[in-house]
Amino acid sequence: MIVTPKIRGFICTTAHPEGCARHVADQIGVVTSRGLVAGGPKKVLVIGSSTGYGLSSRIAAAFGSNAATIGVFFEKPSEPDRTGTAGWYNTVAFEKEAAAAGLYARSFNGDAYSDAIKDEVIAAIKADLGQVDCVIYSLASPRRTEPKTGEVFKSVLKPIGETYTNKTLNTTTGAVTEISIEPAAGDDIAQTVAVMGGEDWELWMKALLEAGVLADGVKTAAYSYIGPSMTWPIYKNGTIGRAKEDLERAQQALDELLAPLHGKAWISVNKALVTQASSAIPVVPLYISLLYKAMKAAGNHEDCIEQMDRLFRDRLYSNTPQPDEAGRIRLDDWEMGEGIQKIVGERWETVSTENLTEVADFSGYQSSFLRLFGFGLQGVDYTADSEVDQKVPSLG
Ligand code: NAD
Repeated sequence: MIVTPKIRGFICTTAHPEGCARHVADQIGVVTSRGLVAGGPKKVLVIGSSTGYGLSSRIAAAFGSNAATIGVFFEKPSEPDRTGTAGWYNTVAFEKEAAAAGLYARSFNGDAYSDAIKDEVIAAIKADLGQVDCVIYSLASPRRTEPKTGEVFKSVLKPIGETYTNKTLNTTTGAVTEISIEPAAGDDIAQTVAVMGGEDWELWMKALLEAGVLADGVKTAAYSYIGPSMTWPIYKNGTIGRAKEDLERAQQALDELLAPLHGKAWISVNKALVTQASSAIPVVPLYISLLYKAMKAAGNHEDCIEQMDRLFRDRLYSNTPQPDEAGRIRLDDWEMGEGIQKIVGERWETVSTENLTEVADFSGYQSSFLRLFGFGLQGVDYTADSEVDQKVPSLG
């Protein structure tokens, strides 16, 4: 089948198998070019391992530290005449590359919020690895089914208290328009915290601890975002920000939980990047387009893989995690640099449909978005037939 992108708003409903494989191989190349991480993790569980920051975490751990990895994700498998999701093909490619490098890799496709997946993963750790010494929690989901009650929570991206009006970008047409977003109502905040807050991270870590599958000195990390003040009403001070505050609460609770094992929980505040999750947030894609332009010009632009390699190499497994005043790792340090933020802030005031391509990296945004689904990668023949029905080796 010839696979072409089918974009519907902020989602692409097709994915290119060879393109996704190229994307994974390119990321592996970034990590291996930097050499092995001294004292890196050896057995790593990544929850949310198929796309974005979680995929790059898995690649950084495996190819930067020769770690055995277990990945958990929620993806649509391919069918004989229908493409799977990008995360499915990413995992197919990751497992093949890992096998070629002699690295253990096993994957679980299912609901990470459920007790069943936690039990399956624990059984696999017991059977294959004994224990894990690192757990990365990188879920981004619009909903969560509470495992005990069956209640379904839905997360929303809304400001709190008042309507938020700001510029936004139509990432298909390049039109810069104004958007007004109504504030959270009813139990929007509680629902968003239930999905994207720290409760499930805690449930995972408690289950792993009780099963005796966490190694002495275990490290765990979950990811957050802060960003500049123009996005605060929709992010840091909005419903998702409340969930991230709850993640920080969970980090402190996990530090206590893991103390007997000499373990440590971290929040890593990462850079704003084009991922399936971030492209769904209003206003943020315009900010990202301006940010990419400024950071590429400054020569310090990074993608998920450079960020995650830096996390493992320079922070988690170095003696210099460089925590901020709240104890968080800051991989957004270059994004939040004064020079970058001054440029982005000034351009935010003047950016319009007319000058978008001049002041923002709109083509960079669009190509990053397409790359998420395996399109536009160098060395891939997009006119050739693709074998769309592919199996994740460990899923049989
Ligand atoms: P993403 O959409 O690329 O990845 C989400 C992952 O979660 C995928 O592997 C998906 O399969 C998995 N997933 C979703 N629901 C699941 C479920 N029910 N069960 C199992 N797996 C499930 O998102 P991302 O942008 O990489 O986000 C990961 C984390 O990084 C989030 O906490 C996000 O807030 C944070 N973060 C993102 C950015 C950014 O700009 N993208 C910046 C800083 C922090």
